[in-house]
Amino acid sequence: MTDPTEQTVNRVVAAPRTEGPRRGSTPEDNRLHNRALILRSLFHAGAVSRADLARSTGLTRTSISALVNDLASEGLISELGLRDDSRVGKPANLVGLRSDAYSIIAVDLSADDRFTGAVLDLSGAIVAREEIDGGTSTGEDAVEIALELCGRLAAAAPRRILGFGVSAPGIITPDGVVLEGVYRDWTDLPLAARISERFGAPAHVGNDANAAALGVRTYDRDAANSLLVVHLEHGVGLGVVIDGVLVRGERFSAGEIGHVTVDELGDRCGCGRRGCLETVIGTQHLTSRLAGEAPHDVGRRDEILEDAGRALGQVLAPVVSTLNLNDVIVTGPADLLTGPFEYSVLRTLRARTFPSIHEGLRVRIADTSRPLILLGAAALVLSAELGIT
Ligand SMILES: [Zn+2]
Repeated sequence: MTDPTEQTVNRVVAAPRTEGPRRGSTPEDNRLHNRALILRSLFHAGAVSRADLARSTGLTRTSISALVNDLASEGLISELGLRDDSRVGKPANLVGLRSDAYSIIAVDLSADDRFTGAVLDLSGAIVAREEIDGGTSTGEDAVEIALELCGRLAAAAPRRILGFGVSAPGIITPDGVVLEGVYRDWTDLPLAARISERFGAPAHVGNDANAAALGVRTYDRDAANSLLVVHLEHGVGLGVVIDGVLVRGERFSAGEIGHVTVDELGDRCGCGRRGCLETVIGTQHLTSRLAGEAPHDVGRRDEILEDAGRALGQVLAPVVSTLNLNDVIVTGPADLLTGPFEYSVLRTLRARTFPSIHEGLRVRIADTSRPLILLGAAALVLSAELGIT
C-alpha cells in the first residue's frame, strides 16, 4: 500500500497511463500513423517504388498513392525517375525522402563548459555548427545563453525549420520540462516552451542519454532495434530503446543507474551514500583515481579501468538479461573507454548472463567523430514531428 504522506511529500509527476482512445482510432490518427510509416520506410530504405512501400508498410496501393501525393505536395518526398534494372515488366517509378525539405536545429547542453549546436538536414548531415561558452552559468543566465545559441543556429538554417531538439542532463518530461537539471540549477524549467515561444517553431527537449539512444537507433544503420546507450559525462546516464521506442519510465527517470550501489564500503558519493556506480565509473572520479594511483604505471592504470568496466558490467547484466539486449553502446572520453574498460564490460556481461542472452551481445564505444548527443537532439525532432525513428 502506498503511504499517502509520501505522495504529498514527493513531487508526483507520473507518466500518463495508456488508457483512453486507441491510437489510430480516428481517420486522422490513421492518416498520421500511415504517413509516419511511409516516411520511416523512406528514411531507412532510400529510393523505393510505390509497390516496395506497399510491401514494407502493409498499406494498400491506393493508400500509398494518396499519401505519397500528399507528402510530395508538402515537399517532403520527390519523384526520382524510373528504376534502372533488368527486372521484367514495366520499370517502376521511384520516390525518396527529400533530405533538404527542412532544417533541424540540434543543441547539446551536456558539456561542462560550453553549449554546442548544429543545423542538420533530414538525413542527419550537419550543414552548420555553432558553439557558445556556457561557463559555469546557472538558472536564467544559462537559459539565455542556450536561447542565444538557438537564435544563431536558426539564423544559419538554410531551409524552413522542422523543429528545435535539445539534449540536456537531468530528469525531463516528454513535453520538455526540465524537472531537475542539477548542473545548471534548473528546476521545473519549461525549456521546450521557452524555445518554442521565442522562435515560433516546435521544440523538443530530452535527457542526453535518452536522446543519444534515440540517435543511435535513428542514424546508425548497424544499430539493433533494442539497445542501451551508457553516457559518461555528468555522472552516469543510460538511455534505453526497446523495439524502436524510447523507454522513459514512470517518473521520466528510466536509466538513472549512477546511484546504484556497487560497493557499500566504497568512496563517498555526491548523493551522500557510499560506493555508487558513479564513484567507480564517473569520468571525474575515474580520471582523478588514475592521476592519483597510476600516473605512470600502465599495469595499474589497466587494472583501475578493468575494475570500472566490471562494475558497469555487473550493473548492466540484469538489465541485459531482463530485456535480452544485444547492443550496448558506451559514449564518453574515448581514451578512458577504449581497451581495458570496454573488454571488461563485455567479459563481465558474458560471465554473468546465460549463453542464449549473450551470444550475439556486443559492447561498442561510440565513434567520437560522430556527435552522438547532437544527433540524438535531432532524432527527438524527427521522431516527434515526422514519426521517424
Ligand atoms: Zn550516489
